[in-house]
Amino acid sequence: MAMNKQGRPTTPMGSEQAVFQTVSGNKGLAQAEKLIFEIGDIHQTGVDLAKPVKVKSRLGGMERTDPIGLAGLSEPQAMRHYVRLSQKNYAIDLGVYPLGSCTMKHNPRLNEKVARMPGFADVHPLQPESTAQGALELIHVLAHWICTLTGMPSVAMTPKAGAHGEWCGMAAIRARLDADGHTHKRRVLVPESAHGTNPATAAQCGFSIDEIPATDDGRVDLEALKAKLGDDVAGIMLTNPNTCGLFERDIIEIADLIHSVGGYFYCDGANFNALVGRVRPGDLGIDAMHLNLHKTFSTPHGGGGPGAGPTVLSDALKDYAPLPFVTRDGDQYRFVEHKEGEGAASFGRMCAFHGQMGMFTRALTYMMSHGSDGLKQATEDAVLNANYIQASLSDVMTPAFGGVCMHEALFDDRFLEDTGVTTLDFAKAMIDEGYHPMTMYFPLVVHGAMLIEPTESESKQELDRFIASMRGLAQRAKAGDVDFFQAAPIYAPMRRLDETQAARKPVLRWTEPAEAGK
Ligand SMILES: *Cc1c(COP(=O)(O)O)cnc(C)c1O
Repeated sequence: MAMNKQGRPTTPMGSEQAVFQTVSGNKGLAQAEKLIFEIGDIHQTGVDLAKPVKVKSRLGGMERTDPIGLAGLSEPQAMRHYVRLSQKNYAIDLGVYPLGSCTMKHNPRLNEKVARMPGFADVHPLQPESTAQGALELIHVLAHWICTLTGMPSVAMTPKAGAHGEWCGMAAIRARLDADGHTHKRRVLVPESAHGTNPATAAQCGFSIDEIPATDDGRVDLEALKAKLGDDVAGIMLTNPNTCGLFERDIIEIADLIHSVGGYFYCDGANFNALVGRVRPGDLGIDAMHLNLHKTFSTPHGGGGPGAGPTVLSDALKDYAPLPFVTRDGDQYRFVEHKEGEGAASFGRMCAFHGQMGMFTRALTYMMSHGSDGLKQATEDAVLNANYIQASLSDVMTPAFGGVCMHEALFDDRFLEDTGVTTLDFAKAMIDEGYHPMTMYFPLVVHGAMLIEPTESESKQELDRFIASMRGLAQRAKAGDVDFFQAAPIYAPMRRLDETQAARKPVLRWTEPAEAGK
């Protein structure tokens, strides 16, 4: 252990020593933090208010009589509570986040600045159209960029997430099938490597699901697909690049096969950031595809925050798009709100208003600040970074499939064979290394999967630092240091939680301890 001149250690305690517990539970400069209800007393307020003057209630007996039950904290207490909590979080602004765009990629600050401009930030969905022309124009221009990038004739802007966009596309397919009297077409083919939301969406829209197996190289088994074709097939839901991070090479043939039985091709385009500027879905025979603005186009969505899942639709489906949508008459923009005129064939309304204005603003800012050449480069850098990681680690870890990957590097757990270390242990040790773990045990078709998506915004220095940590861990596992892995994480605020208990019996509500009640 490194010592300073006074003979004191300069590095943190190693795993071999017993972990010393402080009286407070604090560690170094990090303060332990309780629940907000345990700090603030629900029987007092954080501010001194003068006793209200007596007024006659105009609430007709609906006024609250019970205590409100919120923790009373002063401003500095409230600030500290949330800042302490934020310091227990890992963040994209702290380091590499190997979950990638699926969870968090760099959100350029320019996007935030534009989204805060009052004309966009303060716009109200019920204000007269004539006073919101700039916002409507923004939606219209963004739709134009999306159609151009995808090579598709139309886009539905209202869906508020990827899965919501899937629902939009499948509802449009169902509306078209019904309009044509093809009510017997109710079977949807879903490859094994599809994202879990795909079969869930198809089921939600009233279709039955028929699974297609994957080949050994992680792609759709074309022969198995052919065997499943029939007159009752409504369509296919295919993720491309698929969840193994691979491009579906036979995609055009798959589109032709589905169309030959009168079905529609839904493509899950959540991973469009691997394709922008290189491939246009419209050229692949796709009928419907959602984009995740909160993945590809960098709008923030950590912690279940807002998303946006605009869904592009082919000529066959575009008339069935959800209400409302923006249209342009001369130099005026307006919403089509009702099932009449241009909206007559619409399958209806998915949400109260037009979608996520803040996300639209950020996504268009991202697109326009990159330009078409910059968007293409972002795609290429995302793919390059993933391949750099795969190539740099392939001598110590085991890539699940040979060859070039798209925007994600996928490893399996063969390199851990006979070490006693599992994918989970490996991920926990990454926490001590200062990295949020990658996606684990997904996709399901790969044993002990470790899926790493660095995104385009990581520098070579950051990638090299991450790779060095991963190499070190892989070598340590192979050297037989199983105890180290099973003890990890040592430095995290919490070590190993009972994840099963947390998932099956979550405690979501704070209740006041009986003896404290007054
Ligand atoms: C993220 C993702 C989805 C779902 O998107 P949400 O916005 O989380 O609903 C669907 N498919 C794929 C491939 C994804 O990566």
